[in-house]
Amino acid sequence: MKSIMINFILFGPPGSGKGTYSKKIVEDLGLIHISTGDLLRSEIEKKTDLGMQAKSKMEKGEFVPDETVISMIEGILCENDLAKGFVFDGFPRTVAQAQAFDTMLHKYNQSIRQVIAFEVEEEELISRIMARGKESGRADDQNYDVIKNRIAVYHSKTEPVKEYYKAQKKLSVVINEGKIDEVYAKVSSILSV
Ligand code: AMP
Repeated sequence: MKSIMINFILFGPPGSGKGTYSKKIVEDLGLIHISTGDLLRSEIEKKTDLGMQAKSKMEKGEFVPDETVISMIEGILCENDLAKGFVFDGFPRTVAQAQAFDTMLHKYNQSIRQVIAFEVEEEELISRIMARGKESGRADDQNYDVIKNRIAVYHSKTEPVKEYYKAQKKLSVVINEGKIDEVYAKVSSILSV
C-alpha cells in the first residue's frame, strides 16, 4: 500500500445508525464502505462454506469467530490497496478484533484516524431494528429475543472496544437523536478534525 489511507470506524450497538452514516460518509469523502454484517450476509446468499458456518451464529445474534472476520477484512484491504480509505461498519466488535486489526494496519503502514461511537436509548434501538426488519426482511432484525441478545452481546463483548480506542485518543461519541442532517453535521465536524 503506497499512500496513507483515511480510515474511520463507525461504532455502536445494532440499530444505532452505523449503516446510514457510513453511506453518507463514503459519498462525501470517496471512501469504501466495509460492513462485516453485509459481507457475511452476501457469503450466506452465495452459499459459501464461510457463509454456511456464519449463518447459525448470525441467526441467534451471536458473533462469528474473530479469525473469520479478520481474514475477510484483510482480503478486502489487499484487493483495494489503491483506495483513498475505508469506513468500517460493525468491525471491530471485540477487543481481540481491534488488536488484530491494529497489527494488520501496522503491517501495511496504515492506521485508524478516528472512531465515531453512536449512542441511542435501548427502546429506540429496538423499535428502529424492528422497523428495518419489516422493510428488509432480515430475520435477525425481526425476532425480539434475537434483537435483545444482540444488544446484550454488544454490551458484554463490543462496548469494551470503546475503551481500547479511548486510550488511543481516537474516540468521539455522537448521540444519534434528532434529524439525520443534524446528526450528520456533528459527524462531519469529527471527520474534518
Ligand atoms: P450487522 O449487520 O453488523 O448487525 O451484523 C449482523 C451479524 O453478523 C451479527 O449479529 C454477527 O452475528 C455477525 N457479525 C457482523 N460483524 C461481525 C464481527 N465484526 N464479528 C463477529 N460477528 C459479526
